[in-house]
Amino acid sequence: MQDASSTELRLVADQIRACTACPLHRSARQAVPGDGSGESGIFFLGEAPGYHEDVQGRPFVGAAGQFLDELLAGIGLDRRKVFITNVVRHRPPENRDPLPDEIAACDIWLRRHLEVLRPRAIVTLGRHAMGKFFPGESISRIHGKPRRTTDGLVIFPVYHPAAALHQPALRDALVGDFRALAAYLATPAPPKPEAEAKPAEQITLFG
Ligand code: SF4
Repeated sequence: MQDASSTELRLVADQIRACTACPLHRSARQAVPGDGSGESGIFFLGEAPGYHEDVQGRPFVGAAGQFLDELLAGIGLDRRKVFITNVVRHRPPENRDPLPDEIAACDIWLRRHLEVLRPRAIVTLGRHAMGKFFPGESISRIHGKPRRTTDGLVIFPVYHPAAALHQPALRDALVGDFRALAAYLATPAPPKPEAEAKPAEQITLFG
């Protein structure tokens, strides 16, 4: 049986597939809205779809995705129980970094996913995702520790699995960060805040 959040996630995914709010949709094969569920309360936010994600329409399915799967398995987290998405939902040409305007345009979908899932913690993968919440911060300074935003969101910054693939020092740091994430998740979760009632007109689809 489907719960309310999975129905809403499908609706948001359909809206993302129809989004034309920034130029990235023109060069990408398809949107990569995100997948998984809110069952664990953990929300992973990466940078942007790459080649394999663009082909398959799913996030983190290439080499970095396999490493993420290993990291999740290492702390007993089932990928189907976490939600995974990126700061932009269409692949930038030639895998270039997403531009600030593109990240800003795609913010609406992050807000929608957070409204639906209300996660216990947002794990940012890499500096672009971290920069959404802590602009100007250095990931080398704040990775591996939960940090609360002024909006009350708990952010857990870690390095991006793609950056760690070929750098043993970053790989070790990322494994350590996931251990710290597991320790954080082992502490009792605070009660989930009630969802704020949002007027339908606040949910805008660009295009
Ligand atoms: S704002 Fe996001 S979903 Fe919309 S076209 Fe740009 S990258 Fe795609």
